[in-house]
Amino acid sequence: MPVKNMDELVSLCKRRGFIFPGSDIYGGLQGTYDYGPLGVELKNNLKAAWWRAMVYERDDVEGLDASILTHKLVLRHSGHEATFTDPMVDCRNCQSRWRADHVVNGRCERCGSDDLTEPRPFNMMFKTTIGPIADEDSYGYLRPETAQGIFTNFKNIVDSTSRRLPFGVAQIGKAFRNEITPRNFIFRVREFEQMELEYFVKPGSDEEWHRHWVETRLQWWRDQGLLSDNLQAYNQEPDELAHYAKATVDILYRFPHGLEELEGIANRTDFDLGSHTRNQADYNLTAKVDPNEDSTAKLVIPDPDTNKPIVPYVIEPSAGVDRGVLAVLTEAYTHEELDNGKERVVLKLRPHLAPIKVAILPLARNRPEIVDKAKGIKRELQALGFGRVFYEDTGNIGKGYRRHDEVGTPFCVTVDFDTLGQGDDSALKDTVTIRDRDTMAQERVPISELAEYVRSRLQA
Ligand code: ATP
Repeated sequence: MPVKNMDELVSLCKRRGFIFPGSDIYGGLQGTYDYGPLGVELKNNLKAAWWRAMVYERDDVEGLDASILTHKLVLRHSGHEATFTDPMVDCRNCQSRWRADHVVNGRCERCGSDDLTEPRPFNMMFKTTIGPIADEDSYGYLRPETAQGIFTNFKNIVDSTSRRLPFGVAQIGKAFRNEITPRNFIFRVREFEQMELEYFVKPGSDEEWHRHWVETRLQWWRDQGLLSDNLQAYNQEPDELAHYAKATVDILYRFPHGLEELEGIANRTDFDLGSHTRNQADYNLTAKVDPNEDSTAKLVIPDPDTNKPIVPYVIEPSAGVDRGVLAVLTEAYTHEELDNGKERVVLKLRPHLAPIKVAILPLARNRPEIVDKAKGIKRELQALGFGRVFYEDTGNIGKGYRRHDEVGTPFCVTVDFDTLGQGDDSALKDTVTIRDRDTMAQERVPISELAEYVRSRLQA
């Protein structure tokens, strides 16, 4: 049985240390969440899988880590100051505020009144004072998307890497949006992380590259364990498109609260690089952009066929890390009825995403020989470099198995008296029991073969 509702997942996440409400001890700060001991591992594993697929396994992508604090002129010329808004309505009865396109049947979600104002635009950027003098001009923004840092560094990257079209720049980092109504756990928050690729192409080849990236990204989500049935590609209607986009395909996922956007793949044309370029009239821009005399740069690259400088088009697969974490948790959460009439909750995460790869459980914590042996095995497996190997000496193996099922640990290794050659069967000396999370099958494996056993199964 999959997860029944969001509450079940929220409760597991808090109980087991995946995700906590932000500023919890002061009553919480709406739209913020903190990732706990296991959540940070899961999130890091998801980001590492993305970076591996998008940067290391390709030959046409570079990485970047740009700053979060952003110059106001960047977000003015990108169009965000003027248009990065959601429509907002006020309830005249209870004074609450709602995103107009989320209002159901024209009624206030809190008090049920239909006495709502006309929608008006609400800018979602977080504005902040920069520097010690708080005058009118000394403000900047927390970036609302990581993308602008890639556009403003376009020339730096081309100059320092000698890249030619087509090529991409990948970045993972925080983004901030003052959402009118954050909701659905980590699905819609005010501080979140994005994994974005800006893939620069020759104008005219953009539509083909757009299709390529939709397919590539769908496959990547399947590789993270999401079932095809729960994933859908949705073509945005013209009136849904962001101010910079010629076309956008959303990858939707069936979250506990409904089918909603997990990733957006936009054809941003030459809008952004064009907007940040000085003397735009020198180039044959297709997007309508405002003149820019503030920038010092020409964000151009040679046309691969004519060698003339052009402003390239860009295809942008933009995925939310937090929505990704929510999707893989939703998919992995399994409630099983066992043959013996008992039940268990197990997170069937793909092994590369599991926060703990192997748990080492000594049968008795007050026996130094067993403890030493178990710690030695922990060190050896940890050195393989797959991720966290966890030594846990609570002494109750059954409880340990249940806890590790619930947090998705693929393997539990038990060190017992047989391991030391002190059991009934001397042939079991230097062997351990290894238990598989999904099948619950237990196997006796020589310690000398343990590393290979784990390696071959974690990489599968
Ligand atoms: P939505 O329509 O759901 O508000 P969006 O279309 O504004 O999302 P994009 O601007 O395309 O989102 O951002 C790219 C990705 O960033 C989204 O697909 C999503 O995964 C993530 N994202 C955007 N806003 C949020 C948010 N408030 N909380 C968590 N993730 C977000």
